[in-house]
Amino acid sequence: AAKAAGKNCVRSSGAALDRLVDRRARLARDLPSAIADGALTLVYQPVVGVADRRVLGLEALVRWEHPELGAVPPDEFVALAEDDGLIVPLQRWVLRTATTALAPLLADGHDLQLGVNVSIRHLQAGCLVPDVAAALADSGVPPRRLMVELTESVLMGTDDHVEDDLRALRGMGCVISLDDFGKGHSTLARLARLPVDVLKMDRAFVAHIQDDPRSAALVRSVVELGPVLGMDVVAEGVETAGQLAALREVGCRYLQGFLLGAPVPAAQLPGVLAGFDPAVLDHAVPSHV
Ligand code: C2E
Ligand code: MG
Ligand code: MG
Ligand code: MG
Repeated sequence: AAKAAGKNCVRSSGAALDRLVDRRARLARDLPSAIADGALTLVYQPVVGVADRRVLGLEALVRWEHPELGAVPPDEFVALAEDDGLIVPLQRWVLRTATTALAPLLADGHDLQLGVNVSIRHLQAGCLVPDVAAALADSGVPPRRLMVELTESVLMGTDDHVEDDLRALRGMGCVISLDDFGKGHSTLARLARLPVDVLKMDRAFVAHIQDDPRSAALVRSVVELGPVLGMDVVAEGVETAGQLAALREVGCRYLQGFLLGAPVPAAQLPGVLAGFDPAVLDHAVPSHV
């Protein structure tokens, strides 16, 4: 919606631009109280292992239901929080809420890893490591259960302390993943140097795996590159049985997307975990495999 509005305001006169500016100002004004008053929630999406045939992980995704503007997309308000110095309190809330939701699932015997999206600005602010440590200590979640997801843009900075902090998180036992991989401009040299455990392949490649041979070739390359660098590869945005079949064919072992499971509130997780049907992984495999 924000993008559409952004395009429109180039052509139309002041009104659309005013609305856009109003919306931004409004969201910026309301975000601090949303963080404090519980207007933010988290939903959790399963990550499925092909070989294990079960849900191996959950990704926490933040939601904001604005009382008047309705659902605000996370990309929009995370960017706004980054610009307005609200990213640290936002991320602290996300880390605490997600680890608190994971603890009872672990206590019930579920063997799961929790992915939390983290902003590079939080890292640059210098308090990501202590904030992660505090969330883990307070919830009792073991560090190896937490996967810190950073977008590929971390690779573009030349900041040394980014790397130091990633190493510190890893040293604590956390898992580091590079999100939306393939979308940015990482060089192989930089990628090989970074302390990263998991590559999450951008869903744009998955979306075109069947109709665009170049996307298919890229997916195959990333799936093959991962192990060379000692990294697991997760395909994001798996929506159809055909995409799943194509991903299995190239040997992708970890899958996330609406086909495997939509993001749900924490209260629904026990049901989702109990009800996961591994048959979803089979019905799509082409007969010649
Ligand atoms: P992401 O980390 O790459 O998260 C995956 C996004 O893909 C989510 O969008 C998810 O709902 C969506 N998705 C999952 N499966 C499918 C599918 O099969 N098809 C399609 N088309 N989409 C699928 P969402 O929740 O809108 O989040 C968008 C982005 O906002 C996230 O991308 C992440 O970069 C950011 N974000 C979300 N929560 C947080 C957070 O707590 N902190 C930070 N810093 N960023 C967050
Ligand atoms: Mg993510
Ligand atoms: Mg992603
Ligand atoms: Mg994304």
